[in-house]
Amino acid sequence: MELLDGKSVKKQILEELKEKITKLDRKPGLVVIQVGEDPASKVYVGQKEKMSNELGYKYEHIKLNEKVEEKEVLDIINKLNNDDTIDGILVQMPLPKHLDSKKIQNTIDKNKDVDGLCDINAGKLSHNVDTLVPCTPKGVMDILKHYNIEVEGANVVIVGRSDLVGKPLASLMINNNATVTICHSKTKNLESFTKNADILIAAVGKKGIITSNMVKDNAVVIDVGINRVDGKLYGDVDFEGVKDKVSYITPVPGGVGQMTVAELGKNVLKAYNMNEKEKILKK
Ligand code: NAP
Repeated sequence: MELLDGKSVKKQILEELKEKITKLDRKPGLVVIQVGEDPASKVYVGQKEKMSNELGYKYEHIKLNEKVEEKEVLDIINKLNNDDTIDGILVQMPLPKHLDSKKIQNTIDKNKDVDGLCDINAGKLSHNVDTLVPCTPKGVMDILKHYNIEVEGANVVIVGRSDLVGKPLASLMINNNATVTICHSKTKNLESFTKNADILIAAVGKKGIITSNMVKDNAVVIDVGINRVDGKLYGDVDFEGVKDKVSYITPVPGGVGQMTVAELGKNVLKAYNMNEKEKILKK
């Protein structure tokens, strides 16, 4: 078994990005909007800030009270949409229930949507048109590429169908010529699907749901899940039970989570290039 080391791949991606960023006339700008005090969000926002500082991005963290009115969030986004020094706008999920996440995501200018979650960008991805793509699924594709793991023709099984991970990952896999099966909470006999996977991706949010008997010998296993139990992080895969029968596996932590941060760095630069191009066209 070989570990797919997200930490070292992230380091390499950030080094490559730094080189490109130092050559730019203006610092790319990223704004992260956080609503409320969700402890996991606090950790994720902190990682984004660290990455932005490392890359020399202009970074702003807007922290809003958990009772904030939706109009205030939308007004802030609209202002940022019109700010030429800001290239990426990210609203940290999950949001409190009184806020309409979809509406908020769709208010972000599509060229500043560095989370790739607005309907236009999701549609473009599904139509295989180049666009800003959600960071976690892009991170899964890039870690596979880094280790030269062939996706074309592979039997890929994704457990989880969220707009954030499962669905965009399915599109990326299809666009790269994999044969894709998506499983979810209503799937009957999950094991009968997962056992056929050359590449098995777990994006469920349930500690250890993928056990050894569900995994084919020599499969590649990508564990997207992040589950906090008693202050410790666990994936969706029973790592100890599975590790000796697979060819490659991502650890948790140190796997896909690291890639997610690196992909955000890439998306901000991509958004910068898109926004600069648009400015020239407008002149
Ligand atoms: P989500 O929106 O809650 O989606 C979970 C998916 O799992 C749903 O499609 C759900 O099915 C499915 N599911 C639930 N129970 C199942 C079961 N027993 N059998 C099969 N499928 C089941 O979660 P998410 O946002 O996609 O995140 C998934 C996990 O990845 C979480 O642990 C999250 O923390 C983690 N995550 C990690 C990163 C990272 O950077 N590593 C980034 C994002 C998310 P239904 O659709 O039928 O409900």
